[in-house]
Amino acid sequence: MVGVVGGGQLARMLFEAASALGIDTVLLSEQPDDAAVAAAGRVLVGTPGDLLAMEALAACADVITFDHEQVDLAVLSQLAEHGTTVLPGVAALELAVDKATMRQRFFDAGVAVPDFEVLDLRQGAAVAMAAIGRVAGRAGWPVMAKATRGGYDGKGVWPLESKEAAAAAVERSIASGASTLLVEAMVPIDTELAVLVATGTDGTSVAWPAVETTQVDGVCREVLAPGHLSADLLARAGDMARRAAREVAAVGVLAVELFATGGEVLVNEVAARPHNTGHWSIEGATTSQFENHLRAVLSLPLGSTAPRAPAVASVNVFGPADGSDPRRMLAGALRVEGAHVHLYGKEARPGRKLGHVTVLGDDPDDARRRAWQCAGALGTLPPPGVRLD
Ligand code: ADP
Repeated sequence: MVGVVGGGQLARMLFEAASALGIDTVLLSEQPDDAAVAAAGRVLVGTPGDLLAMEALAACADVITFDHEQVDLAVLSQLAEHGTTVLPGVAALELAVDKATMRQRFFDAGVAVPDFEVLDLRQGAAVAMAAIGRVAGRAGWPVMAKATRGGYDGKGVWPLESKEAAAAAVERSIASGASTLLVEAMVPIDTELAVLVATGTDGTSVAWPAVETTQVDGVCREVLAPGHLSADLLARAGDMARRAAREVAAVGVLAVELFATGGEVLVNEVAARPHNTGHWSIEGATTSQFENHLRAVLSLPLGSTAPRAPAVASVNVFGPADGSDPRRMLAGALRVEGAHVHLYGKEARPGRKLGHVTVLGDDPDDARRRAWQCAGALGTLPPPGVRLD
């Protein structure tokens, strides 16, 4: 029995893969109507910070794994000490949930990362401002500030245009009770990339090919495998991601997000769980990220990550501005030839991530065009900055 903490779409798709393999599942969900509830074998309602709820999950699961990073490391450590298998391990989670710790660790290990400073806000605003000044001195304004914990989809990431803006951000962060802040160079990004690596309990690992991702305002809009990058750059992204994965040593899927800039590849961040940039692998790869995550945490052999087509395009579906529900538009989307539609069963709200679609093909432009056609039929149009010609 696999126990999953968190009832979002990642857990839902993990359960879909588990169902195909005949693996029993139990979910710890915060709300009884979360996206994963309908796909879980058993459901417990509770929060990951509640030791009793986590113990109840541990009591019926052979292994506990995660849909998201909003976990309580002290609670997980207690469970692990009392014999519960928690995967990825607590040490890997500790690293992955804190952007500053992760960044420092990668830098120390020789993984290429954006120029950065970790601000210790407990030393006061003047010390923090001096550190920001050092980044701006090396890289120029604007610089990027990032909350070290709890950020996702661009929440917790702010460009700082000037010294004055930096001073205001430092004050705000201190007032919010944060103890650290990550500040880094604004990278002139040519392309964003992602590489997913799955690692088994015996340390063996497999990596899916690097994919090109398009982020708008910190939110992933489309994923192209392999995208438009040179084979050389894709190979280097793969190498860099595997180095980062060895450092984190997370059992299960680790998503590594990278920037390509001036022919160089930099690791931005990692997530120790299945990831939006790997949804293409459900139909587009021989083994999906969800299946390999399950195989990894259950010490089963990992499956091939080879793509099933020369080109795969995956596009995220969001709640349309008028509040309409993409589920009502399913017929139009399914008319697009070869489109695989995934809707997560979430209540439609404008801008909320509600699903994704994937199209495989021989021609990258054609696959991408059909994926956007399908997303368009569900009410998601390409945002400004995403061009289809
Ligand atoms: P989150 O954890 O919210 O996803 P990220 O660190 O991935 O935060 O940042 C979100 C997006 O912001 C990235 O996908 C990228 O587009 C942009 N970004 C982040 N860091 C930098 C940087 N140093 N330089 C330029 N853009 C950045």
